[in-house]
Amino acid sequence: MSNTTLSGRPLTRRGVLTAVTAAAAAHTILRPSQASATRRRHAYDVIVVGAGFAGITAARDLRRKGLRVLILEARNRIGGRTWTSTFQGEQVEMGGVWVDPMQTHVWQEIEDQGIGLVADPAADRTLFPTATGFGYFSPEEAFGRQGELLTQFCEQAPQVFSDPTDPMAQADVLRLVDSYSIRDRLNAMGLSTLDEKWLSGATGGLGGGSDRGAYTQFLHWWALCNYNAEQYYGINTYRPAGGMTGLAQAILTEAAADLRLNSPVRSITDNGREVTVRTRAGMSYTASSVVVAVPVNVWNTIDFAPGLSLQRRRASSETFGVPGAQKLWLRLRTSLGNTYVHTPDGYPVDTLVPIKQFADSQLMVGFSNDRRLNVNNVAQVERAVRLVVPDARVLAVKGQNWGADPYARGGWSFRRPGQLTGLLDAIQRPQGRISFATSDIASGWSGYVEGAIESGLRAAEQVTHYAFR
Ligand SMILES: Cc1cc2nc3c(=O)[nH]c(=O)nc-3n(C[C@H](O)[C@H](O)[C@H](O)COP(=O)(O)OP(=O)(O)OC[C@H]3O[C@@H](n4cnc5c(N)ncnc54)[C@H](O)[C@@H]3O)c2cc1C
Repeated sequence: MSNTTLSGRPLTRRGVLTAVTAAAAAHTILRPSQASATRRRHAYDVIVVGAGFAGITAARDLRRKGLRVLILEARNRIGGRTWTSTFQGEQVEMGGVWVDPMQTHVWQEIEDQGIGLVADPAADRTLFPTATGFGYFSPEEAFGRQGELLTQFCEQAPQVFSDPTDPMAQADVLRLVDSYSIRDRLNAMGLSTLDEKWLSGATGGLGGGSDRGAYTQFLHWWALCNYNAEQYYGINTYRPAGGMTGLAQAILTEAAADLRLNSPVRSITDNGREVTVRTRAGMSYTASSVVVAVPVNVWNTIDFAPGLSLQRRRASSETFGVPGAQKLWLRLRTSLGNTYVHTPDGYPVDTLVPIKQFADSQLMVGFSNDRRLNVNNVAQVERAVRLVVPDARVLAVKGQNWGADPYARGGWSFRRPGQLTGLLDAIQRPQGRISFATSDIASGWSGYVEGAIESGLRAAEQVTHYAFR
């Protein structure tokens, strides 16, 4: 993910990997005639709303079963909260970017598609908070000390998440801590002022501020990284060579499903026998079942009949995706060099990651949770960066405010206190003939592309039987 999942820089793994050429898995394609005759009443068996990784995975899985699938996507592009673009002549990712072998679905997908991987280079040094401002540290010193603090912060993870793929496995223990925010945990640790700065920056920004994010969400990610600081830092190393959009396109091409871009969905009506989806432009499509693969924060913008369950409405209004999440690319003229920058909770730019050095300038990527910061305004971004690097001169910026994006209404998912024990199980279940897919409701890597794929597979499974009735 970004940001602090983003906070880590690769300490151990680097170098460019060559294309992965594992043999593609053999998939059984059923002939349409093997499905029930009644489904032929409509042009499509299943309608998938949303062409992010959850939606296209569900569509591809349903097509493998021989079903006829229509994808309705609001934007003029696929990929949702991943988006490969360009800035200053460089390929850049405006949303999700890094993948890791521990994320088995997406890793396998990259292998199956024969896509190469690039490892982003590690920083030579870091700029971290000191008692009076900021100072330079070696990566070993900075990540070593911060890793110790993170390990202490997460010491309950093995008890709470003994099986990270089944977050409710220790439900009784989990209930004792799920109401805590990251701030609650930080306060309970009795940290020195400096340790608080180093730890709050590594944890709070990920959840949209230490008061918003659930302590258990961070514990869950830590558990998925084998309760290990080095593995946790390492998850921000590898990215697909052709960009995330290339990976999404490869899955979509394999799916060979019908796709309608520029088709924001306005309403979804389930009459118990079939489901009708209407777009804002007035187009209407009916099928046996529907996979709603839009972010949780967007659910309340679609009219459902019957209405969404109380838990779903609550989840959407409370937010799962971090509402203030912004990502920004910067061309900088500074004396900074190949330096990873880390700020305490509450700074307008919370992380700056060095990506490429030029003769007179450098390319960095940063993250922000400050809604007042216009990440496309050079002067504003320069002021924010100068709080940390006083001689910074920002030459150009390109940013994406995911919270202001009407089809995301937030960035990566980071649950709030109480949502795991109070909502997750209920919102993963289908509602009539409608199933829900999005990384936000994954059991494992929620907040990552891996979670989107996991949820897409589950939703496809949930709706399949309607098509064969
Ligand atoms: C800044 C940032 C950095 C991140 N970094 C990483 C990372 O490094 N690694 C990682 O694995 N993950 C990362 N993530 C998270 C990852 O990008 C997401 O978890 C994942 O892409 C979500 O996929 P999804 O299919 O669940 O949702 P989305 O990608 O949001 O897809 C939902 C789709 O539904 C469409 N839609 C919405 N409303 C409607 C409507 N009414 N009608 C029709 N269509 C609609 C949207 O346009 C979108 O295409 C990051 C996210 C952000 C924002």
